Amino acid sequence: MSDGPRDGFWDELGGLCRAVGRAMGVTFVNFLRKPVTVHYPDVTRVYPDRFRGVLALTYDTETGEENCIGCRLCEYICPPRVIKVEMLKSEKRNFAKTFTLELYACEFCELCVQVCPTDAIVMMKSFDVATADRRELLLDKDRLHTLGQQFERSWATGTLLRDRQTPPKAAKAESAAHAKAAGGAE
Ligand code: SF4
Ligand code: SF4
Repeated sequence: MSDGPRDGFWDELGGLCRAVGRAMGVTFVNFLRKPVTVHYPDVTRVYPDRFRGVLALTYDTETGEENCIGCRLCEYICPPRVIKVEMLKSEKRNFAKTFTLELYACEFCELCVQVCPTDAIVMMKSFDVATADRRELLLDKDRLHTLGQQFERSWATGTLLRDRQTPPKAAKAESAAHAKAAGGAE
């Protein structure tokens, strides 16, 4: 004759013990693992070369002049329209009279970097501008230049990004040949 409810009790107890054992096993394995967190800001991670961090403006390393020519291409391409530029016309070249960027609304899409003809706007390998006051994230030209000297630059510049999109010469010739052959077949 079966014990009925008593069998159910021991089955449940066995299942519970197995589940606790499995959970403790997972805890023990993770206890021995190297931590994945770091004690920021005392310890900072090495960011990848393509890290999209804070935006900044650059100077020409040879002449020391501002690279921005105030062309406003970054302003036109920016999806959330957070960049505003006023051009200052000059004899040899133009400058940005004013340049503001509302970093708190930036999408970090990198489009402004990509279209810049003079590699004047870049991204840095840092996001270290956290603040409780949004007004501090309305960046003017001086602040953007300061950020450019404060942090390490990411890989991307407008020139490099556009180069990546240009098909290699061999591929261009091949696609031209395909187009010609297709035209001849019609
Ligand atoms: S990264 Fe994108 S959203 Fe941010 S300023 Fe540049 S274009 Fe605008
Ligand atoms: S940052 Fe580049 S794209 Fe924007 S206004 Fe200056 S030169 Fe033009």
